[in-house]
Amino acid sequence: MLKITLKKTVFSFLFTTVFQLVAFNVTAYTQNTASSGDNKARKVILLIGDGMGLAQIHAAAANAQLNLLSLPHTALVTTASNDNGITDSGAAGTAIATGVKTNNGKICITPNQQHLKSILKIAEENGLSTGLIATSDITHATPASFVANVAHRSQENEIARQFIGSGIDVFIGGGLNNFMRRADSIDYVDSLVAHGYYVATSVDELKTHQSGKLAGLLYPVHPPKMSEGRGEMLTMSTTKALQILSENKDGFFLMIEGAQIDWGGHANDIDYILAELLDFDNAVGVALKYAKENPETLVIVTSDHETGGMTLVEDILNTGKMKPHFSTIHHTASPVPLFAYGKRAELFKGLMDNTDIFHYIMSAYGFNESALNKQLHN
Ligand code: MG
Ligand code: ZN
Repeated sequence: MLKITLKKTVFSFLFTTVFQLVAFNVTAYTQNTASSGDNKARKVILLIGDGMGLAQIHAAAANAQLNLLSLPHTALVTTASNDNGITDSGAAGTAIATGVKTNNGKICITPNQQHLKSILKIAEENGLSTGLIATSDITHATPASFVANVAHRSQENEIARQFIGSGIDVFIGGGLNNFMRRADSIDYVDSLVAHGYYVATSVDELKTHQSGKLAGLLYPVHPPKMSEGRGEMLTMSTTKALQILSENKDGFFLMIEGAQIDWGGHANDIDYILAELLDFDNAVGVALKYAKENPETLVIVTSDHETGGMTLVEDILNTGKMKPHFSTIHHTASPVPLFAYGKRAELFKGLMDNTDIFHYIMSAYGFNESALNKQLHN
């Protein structure tokens, strides 16, 4: 960041000097310089398919041409948490969001109670806009890992409280009840409005919002399954978030989660998995289209862990049937795939650890990590 600040200072000095001589157009000048002078991603879209392993993806690819398989850079990601070879979504979300492994169940707090700063918070501190979208409660473990610090993921009321004043520009999911119909009777929807958010409580209300901070609390609890009518919620939310976040010319960080692929895995329900994965992939399509139109964008598609121990043991080519086998109703230790496209996407390759995702995003933005490590990780 020092480098960026220094550059800006030099440019503004140059500009001031030039302006005094020849009435130069400052807007055009700084924009042109910023877009051509470095190799940094200014917009990062991270899409997490919760519980999405290779078998789930391959099964979905039998029925559809997946957007995520068109991303040119691929990697494998190990997912163990600090205290268990099989991670939960809290520890995995924390690893991806902060680059630090913690114990299962924890959200951005280390086993010895240190608070960790997420990539979303760091993006905010660097003047970028930020957003979170999930097809679960927005206070659920995966999105919570980008905005909250709590000892256990079950503290969803406290996670809701930490959204207020977090500075996040857009968040969309379910979980309105964690904000307004709370046991402690505090109405955080009022607080959101006071903090300048437009609060949408349905997809139709979401569509009407055109500019400025947006809190989409679209369902009282979790959004419904695709098979039970969730419809265009995720793709519409993705489109809307990209529209709002693009108002910041300095860039943004956006995390989008397909939360219920995991729930289909826990249920060992292939139809549930496929419907949720295809919906998630449609959001990947929206992100990819945006990145193709906005070349300073990095798109990353990955998973926090595999769920269900799913294997494909039927000969689909000859039987025409997709009949997977599941070895567990829980998560597994299998590495998960990662796909990347766009600015600095070449950073993602080979065998990685989930903590590397944070470090590579930091690098793609051009953020200085040494100061951060001193501040956070000691
Ligand atoms: Mg999740
Ligand atoms: Zn799970």
